Amino acid sequence: MTQWKHADFKQAQLSEHILLTLEAGGYTACWVGGCVRDELIGRPVHDMDIATSATPQEVEKLFERTVPTGIEHGTITVVIDKIPFEVTTFRTESEYKDFRRPEEVTFVRSLDEDLQRRDFTINAIARLSDGSLVDPYEGQVDLQRKKIRSVGDARERFREDALRMLRGVRFASVFAFEWEKSTWEALLELRGNMAYIAAERIRVELEKMIAGAQPTFGIKMLADSNLLATSKINWTTTQLQHPMMQLLDRLPAQPAELRWAALLQAFGVPGEQAEALMKSWTFSGSFAKSVSVLIRIDEAMNKVNESDDAQLRLTLVRCVLDHGRESVKLWIQYRDHLQATTDDSADLIRQASTWLKWIPVDTPRDLALSGNDIVAALKRKPGAWLGIYIRRLLESVALGHVQNERADLLKALEEIDANFAKDDSR
Ligand code: ATP
Ligand code: MG
Repeated sequence: MTQWKHADFKQAQLSEHILLTLEAGGYTACWVGGCVRDELIGRPVHDMDIATSATPQEVEKLFERTVPTGIEHGTITVVIDKIPFEVTTFRTESEYKDFRRPEEVTFVRSLDEDLQRRDFTINAIARLSDGSLVDPYEGQVDLQRKKIRSVGDARERFREDALRMLRGVRFASVFAFEWEKSTWEALLELRGNMAYIAAERIRVELEKMIAGAQPTFGIKMLADSNLLATSKINWTTTQLQHPMMQLLDRLPAQPAELRWAALLQAFGVPGEQAEALMKSWTFSGSFAKSVSVLIRIDEAMNKVNESDDAQLRLTLVRCVLDHGRESVKLWIQYRDHLQATTDDSADLIRQASTWLKWIPVDTPRDLALSGNDIVAALKRKPGAWLGIYIRRLLESVALGHVQNERADLLKALEEIDANFAKDDSR
């Protein structure tokens, strides 16, 4: 069996079985792209993609379980033991429209032609079932020299598909590679073509870049090149000086909300705008929301004077009631990573964790008094007032001022009612 040091054993074994099956059918087959590159660099291998001379129909015939995931681009997913493997027919991409991926592909029988259409030399290395490498563009040399270099003429490659420029930035950032001069120059020349690229493809590359070891390296490249001029925030070098940006690399890559919140804060995007912005970048609604909530909580807590414990606690309680306990926990994690350096802020984080643990209620359902109980006790018709009373009860319990017991709550209710009447008469 071909040795893979950085791939999952079963994945390596099953993908080799696919290669051997294709070969037994009379076709050429190899591992290619990310898995070969990552194995050579010594990084964990994820997907073990396969390329073959067999057409999609021929692939379908050879395997029991297949899914035509991208059949128009030549990709069939072969599933063995519930593990999916992408098997893609060797192809060239002849007709490019509007600097985007081609709408039509031409299947070819030769591996060399297939490698020629790939973006960078480091991604154009194939591995055969006997373990040997096919590397016509000297991708291994570039891996050693840590260089991002286009396969063939960079300008031509970027004109064909402008996303490749951003992919290059992503690979350079994640692997801490430099750009080969003419490839970088081609990027500077053709960066305007990024405007033709779908937001979703851009988002996927940015997500991978931000999750890498040193996202600020990539952000600096984006600032230097102005590659994302059309992306609604200014990737300029001034933002690189922002304290939040300085701390970005220190945040863990997961949960991804942490780094995205820091990034947006460094760019001065307020929490209330963050959600719409993230959605316009095609992030999921729930991810966009949790990033924006994280920023909102941070804004709310930062507004309070650091020495005003009562106000800090009240703000924290309100954040729990408004955004949920999990969001506040995430914020604690955020600040913990960002500020662990200064004693004062470490104190606040400790304090906030303690307060959070002591909050016995999250929603009205947790109160020992229901809306009906309140209506009955005050003998009044339900109305807008009820929500306000419940919220006040919740806050009092969450702050530890009132016990979550029926009798205590009824007493607190009387006070709330008296104050409310006073407020109302003003
Ligand atoms: P990752 O680790 O993110 O999966 P990858 O190199 O495998 O990195 P994929 O997007 O999975 O990236 O693509 C698989 C391979 O397909 C690449 O290694 C490259 O050879 C080729 N490829 C992907 N996108 C392009 C593109 N836009 N232009 C040319 N070749 C591409
Ligand atoms: Mg991949």
